[in-house]
Formats: sequence, structure tokens, C-alpha cells
Amino acid sequence: GTTRPQVRIVIVGHVDHGKSTLVGRLLHETGSLPDGKLEMLKAVSARRGMPFEWSFLLDALQTERDQGITIDTTQIRFRTRSREVVLIDAPGHAEFLRNMITGASQADGAVLIIDALEGVRDQTRRHGYLLHLLGIKQVAVVVNKLDRVDFSEARFNAIRDEITAHLSELGVPPSAVIPISARDGDGVAERTANIGWYNGPTVVDALDTLTPARPLDELPLRLPVQAIYKFDDRRIIAGRIESGHLKTGDEIVITPAGKVAKIKSVEGWPQTPVTVAQGAGRSVGITLDRELFIERGDVIAPIDSAPRDARRLRARIFWLHDQPLQPGAAIVIRLGTREARGSVLAIDKAVDPGELSSVAGRSIARNHVGEIDILLSHAIAVDRHADNPRTGRLVIEVNGRLAGGGLVIDITPEPRASA
Ligand code: GDP
Repeated sequence: GTTRPQVRIVIVGHVDHGKSTLVGRLLHETGSLPDGKLEMLKAVSARRGMPFEWSFLLDALQTERDQGITIDTTQIRFRTRSREVVLIDAPGHAEFLRNMITGASQADGAVLIIDALEGVRDQTRRHGYLLHLLGIKQVAVVVNKLDRVDFSEARFNAIRDEITAHLSELGVPPSAVIPISARDGDGVAERTANIGWYNGPTVVDALDTLTPARPLDELPLRLPVQAIYKFDDRRIIAGRIESGHLKTGDEIVITPAGKVAKIKSVEGWPQTPVTVAQGAGRSVGITLDRELFIERGDVIAPIDSAPRDARRLRARIFWLHDQPLQPGAAIVIRLGTREARGSVLAIDKAVDPGELSSVAGRSIARNHVGEIDILLSHAIAVDRHADNPRTGRLVIEVNGRLAGGGLVIDITPEPRASA
């Protein structure tokens, strides 16, 4: 079939507000279920004398995944008219945050679900806050179980106004607030008569207009240097292209030193020159047209859009170590292939995402989140996460152990030495 741009979404909301039901419905309405699956589950429910639940679908798919039966073992996905939607699992708060922040998974958008009878709960607000922390800008809200409030427009409007105010305050105003009944299908793929007063998009419409992340190929080149090999008298610089692309003849700059060169050759393996451009995700070896001092951790980039050199940066981090992170702490950060020593100048906005209470004191406890200012012992090339989702992430180590991870949210650039 035709290829649709892929969008990765996460569905969050208070337990029991209807996440699994919505997913089951979406799979059904978009024709993404294997033939006979729904009928089979309905028959099984009937035989056992229990009402069919849409969430059984998810359980069944999950079980098959665990047993390795389905071919697509990793993710739940479905198609809308113009998008391929991939659902990111959000098992629990801590795991979710950790995966998102360390880059194991990243969502382009989110659906926040609210039970129309229960309304906006603390957990709903916390989820909004998490979306903000993770830099997710596209949030659609669904007000679910509208059948439980007789499809009341007034009830819907009250919840819509409350959640819109909350999310707007966090800087993530909802792209849509949609009245639905996930169980019965109203508002999921169709605006049914029950919600005849509503003129906005359905859930499927909202997903269909999500903006996919810019493909990594389209961002400026970032080639963190992994190693330098000597073959005869040639020096081959090896690394994985994190974003952008490169080819023979390109003019590049090596950061943080700022030395300029031209790519003389792109090496294949073993030793066959490659002539076509190589893009993000490829591991490559290149040679340059001149002898320069290059080391592991340097980043090769285009001259006109290189990362900034910085000793000072601000990161939003998720802390994993038993010992809380304190101001003044000595840390090691890893950014791409580079490692740098540093210290924590200041800690700000420390919160327990489970409680969404600001934590008194200025430390970040295990499984908590906060913003930190870091001063490094020397300047390294850094991108902000907003500019490059691959190279704008860092990992923190303490005493040689993984202690946290996060997003670079701000940089204080060093004055650039003239190249
Ligand atoms: P989750 O914990 O957020 O995944 O919630 P579930 O999808 O498991 O749903 C929790 C309960 O709410 C189940 O019993 C569902 O049948 C019920 N539920 C889900 N959506 C609707 C709805 O639109 N209307 C009604 N009346 N019940 C619903």
C-alpha cells in the first residue's frame, strides 16, 4: 500500500477512564484487527457468560505478543487515512518517564483520556504535567464515557474548559477536546447522533492530523566520532550518523575544535568506496582531505549549522540513583560518544511525578524529575533537544554507574574560536 507518515502516540489518563477500551475501538474502527479476532473474543465472552469488553482485545494481543505468536511483536499500530499510528506502551509512571527521557521511546503526540462522570482528577493533571516535562506538544483530550452522563453537552463543556485551562497553563494547550463513548463508538471514528451537538474532529480525525516528527534525515548532519582507525597511511573516522546525511565532497566542521575539512571518501565495508549519500542511522567510515587532530567524542557537522560548544547547560532529568542528586555533586555526562566531567551548579523544579508536588529542598530523589544546571570541565558540542531529539539527550553517571538521563533544554554557548 501507500506509505503514510508515521506518528508515535501515547495514551494516558487515570486508571479505568477507558484507555484500553479506546485502543480496542480504534483498532476495530480502523480495520486493523486480524480477521475473526473480534468475533472469537465475543464468542469466548458469551461462553463464559461475561459481557464483552473492548479491553479484552488488548489483553489478547498482549498475550500473543508475550508468547511470540504475532509477527509484529513489538508494537500496536493502526492506520488512519493519512497516518500510520504507532502506540507507545505506557506501563507505569516511572517506566514511562524513564523510557521517554532516556530516548528508548519518544512520542510525537498524546491522547489524554478523562471519564465524563469522574471529571478531571489529580492523576489527570499529573499526566498533563508529564506531557509537558517530556516536551510533547500535540495533545488531544478525549472526554470518555459520555453515555454515563446522557451525552450532556453542558457536562462536556465544563470538563473541556477545565482541562483546557490546566493544559494551557502548562504550555500544552490541547489541539482538540473530543466527546466520545469508547465502549459504543461515538466520536471515535464517527460523529454519531448522540453527540449531534458536536462539530469538531473525531479521535481518528485528530490522529490523522498529527504532525510527524521531522525525519532525522532532514535535520543537519551529526556524526559523533566513535573511533579512528589507521589503514596503511589513511585515517578512517568511524561513527553512526545520528541525523542528516553526508557524501564525498561535503564541507564539514569538527566540533568542538571548529576545524574545517572536506570529506574525501566514504568507505564501505570492507573497503569499497560508497558514492551515494548516507543518511541517519547508518554507520560509516570517512576520510578527510587533510590531516587534523580528531578524537572520539568530536562531532562532525555542516559548517553552517554546527552544534554549539558549551560548558554550561541546563537539562531536565529523570533521576534513578538511590542517593538523591544534590547541588555541587560531581557527575559524568555522556552525550553521544562523548564523556565529560562536570558538577551540578543548581537544582530547580524538583518534583515527584507520582504526586506532582514540588519537593522541598533542592535535591532530586530517585524516580523524581527536575531541572539542573551543569558546568563541564571543558566545552563540548551540544544540541538542544528541541533542535535535535537524538543528540539533545544525555545520560548521567555517578561513580561509573548510570544515575539518570535527560533532555538538554538550554545551552550557554562558549564564545566561538575563529576557525
Ligand atoms: P483503563 O484502565 O483506562 O485502560 O480503562 P478500561 O479501558 O479498562 O475501562 C475501564 C472500564 O470502563 C471498563 O469496565 C470499560 O468497559 C468501561 N468503559 C470504557 N469506556 C467506556 C464508555 O465509553 N462508556 C462506559 N459506560 N464504560 C466505559
